[in-house]
Amino acid sequence: MKLQSYTEGRWFEASDGFVDLTSAIDGRTIAQASSKGLDFGRAVRYARDVGGPALRAMTFHERASLLKAIGTYLNDRKAPLYALSNETGATKRDNFVDVDGGIGTLFSYASKGRRELPNANLVVEGEIEMLGKGGTFGGRHVLTPLQGVAIHVNAYNFPVWGMLEKLAPALLAGVPAIVKPATVTSYLTHAAFAAMIESGLLPDGAVQLIVGSVGDLLDHLDGQDVLSFTGSLATSLSLRNHPVVAEKAVRFIAERDSLNAAVLGIDAVPGTPEFDLFVDEVVREMSVKAGQKCTAIRRAIVPRTSYAAASDAISAKLKALAIGDPRLPSVKMGALAGLQQRADVRANVATLRAEAELVYGDPDHVALEGADDATGAFMSPILLGCAHPLDAVAVHEVEAFGPVSTLMAYDTTADAIEIVKRGAGSLVASVFTYDPAVARDLILGIASYHGRVIAIDRDDAKESTGHGSPMPPLVHGGPGRAGGSEELGGLRGVFHYMQRTAIQGSPARLASLTGTWTPGAGETAKPRHPFRYAFGELEIGDTLHTAARTISLDDIEHFAHFTGDTFYAHMDEEAAKANPFFPGRVAHGYLLLAFAAGLFVDPAPGPVLANYGLDNLRFTKPVSPGDSIAVRLTVKNKSQRDAAYGEVRWSVELTNQNGEPVASYDLLTMNATESGERASGATELAGAAR
Ligand code: NAP
Repeated sequence: MKLQSYTEGRWFEASDGFVDLTSAIDGRTIAQASSKGLDFGRAVRYARDVGGPALRAMTFHERASLLKAIGTYLNDRKAPLYALSNETGATKRDNFVDVDGGIGTLFSYASKGRRELPNANLVVEGEIEMLGKGGTFGGRHVLTPLQGVAIHVNAYNFPVWGMLEKLAPALLAGVPAIVKPATVTSYLTHAAFAAMIESGLLPDGAVQLIVGSVGDLLDHLDGQDVLSFTGSLATSLSLRNHPVVAEKAVRFIAERDSLNAAVLGIDAVPGTPEFDLFVDEVVREMSVKAGQKCTAIRRAIVPRTSYAAASDAISAKLKALAIGDPRLPSVKMGALAGLQQRADVRANVATLRAEAELVYGDPDHVALEGADDATGAFMSPILLGCAHPLDAVAVHEVEAFGPVSTLMAYDTTADAIEIVKRGAGSLVASVFTYDPAVARDLILGIASYHGRVIAIDRDDAKESTGHGSPMPPLVHGGPGRAGGSEELGGLRGVFHYMQRTAIQGSPARLASLTGTWTPGAGETAKPRHPFRYAFGELEIGDTLHTAARTISLDDIEHFAHFTGDTFYAHMDEEAAKANPFFPGRVAHGYLLLAFAAGLFVDPAPGPVLANYGLDNLRFTKPVSPGDSIAVRLTVKNKSQRDAAYGEVRWSVELTNQNGEPVASYDLLTMNATESGERASGATELAGAAR
């Protein structure tokens, strides 16, 4: 089968130049790949001219829904992907990480997008900064999607997850992507990609696929484009130094070789739960995906006194590992992605052996279940041992991208930290200790060298995701040799595809642009109370000014005894006066909040379904008995939650009889979309705060 690329809204078959893609299990040809004859410049322009505008016309919530729909579509079609994934050498457990994990990433970004991003086309960051004394000129930061294309050059080890974990943030940001999977396993990426196209869910031009080499693709990029690379350090450097990437300031993200460490704390001697957890984790990381995992433990760092015990325990577990045809249920570790990949791993093991002894495994032979290592890309797990890692170099620099790990001995926690740091920056490190001081020393000592540090002990082991699991909401990138300081976790991954711009203008201009009201942006008094308007009828800036209410000493005492809050500042004139903040007895802040609600609430059933909480609450001036307060309630912004209701953020300001602000906060309510209707979510929300 000749794999076709997908560009300009149609499938493209290359003219020639095909390479055979073979099964990792038995070497038979599964497909052929080539991109010869593809017009890469047109693909880039198609993304910019067709895909980008279509995606940018959607809001974040619409794009989040799109991700969810694609995830659901793929979820229903996993069986053929599993079968192809087996051909890459992956076991059932590996499929779960690659196929299910990839789809899970779509769901994770979909849910983050709906919860944490607005139902709008831009993201507003921070509060307005007033830049003039008269309050007529201010500025605020917004993020808007780049108007170029995201080029995703991916590694071979996670053909599905690798594609989806990059597509999710790019599409959520509103940026179209061209996916370029590693050729050796591109048949699996191709199958998942084809299913996405078949779904018909994606706007035209939102995604394109290149099977084979990238040709002159990079020559067509400019400063609105993002080049996101996953793979080896060497390729990363050649892409970063590409003249167009450098000259046109193409945004470049790299995720590459990482010599991840796991450290066994000095306290975690044999017999402790942490020792056992460490041994299990090293074995797991060596065998999942046959060690072809960017986050796998390459350096297992143990106290010298536990070195022999750790080496024995890990070796015993490796010996019990069934290796072979990944389709067999009994098999726990499958094959490497291909024979070339195995040859690379063997060469790297040979390099490492100049500094480390062979503790377990034979790089050239392995006993297999249901497979033949002459035709399949199988390899024994290899445990190396390095007694003096501070005197070694290669063990901290050479990544054998397979089932290979080096056990290293240390004498003090400070030495362990130094050994970890020799990795020059990694994606992830794990520490196994039950001693809080050891954990603190290790974590503070190594955190700045890592994108993620995980502390594993007897308390969190059951729920822990483990050393190397992909965690979409958390940082995945790492510093230094692992790829630079880019943080790619969660929404930061989305924001990487967006530009942050300071917009300056009048408060009214900024409010209408950002959909967020600020003081000075103008207030609209409507004929009815704001609580009488449904979600869709409320407009940013709709404002209610309430009548004033005087607060008496009786009110304060009543509230104090009723609630039990008899703090001296409310009850004892002399003690309150002695406090630097108060002129004498003052009203409780909570009393002010309660009275404010009493002033602005319109009580009859209507579109307001529930009080959802308060943000940014500040008490700015004390309120004494005899003072009066009034409230200004203004619609600050709105966010549709589902068809039935949306969240309204109200700006609430309390002022005293002199017009001085005494308290301010944002009030969040859930409002029905339709006037007079009880929204479907009303029942569950009825239990919320009010
Ligand atoms: P690789 O050889 O560097 O290839 C990575 C990707 O770059 C492939 O798609 C490859 O395409 C492409 N490529 C190669 N030369 C290129 C060029 N001159 N111009 C444009 N694209 C080019 O890496 P790999 O062997 O596939 O992957 C294994 C490595 O990836 C390991 O070192 C591993 O640590 C790293 N990795 C890192 C992470 C992370 O998140 N940090 C994740 C996974 C893997 P072809 O296949 O067509 O050559």
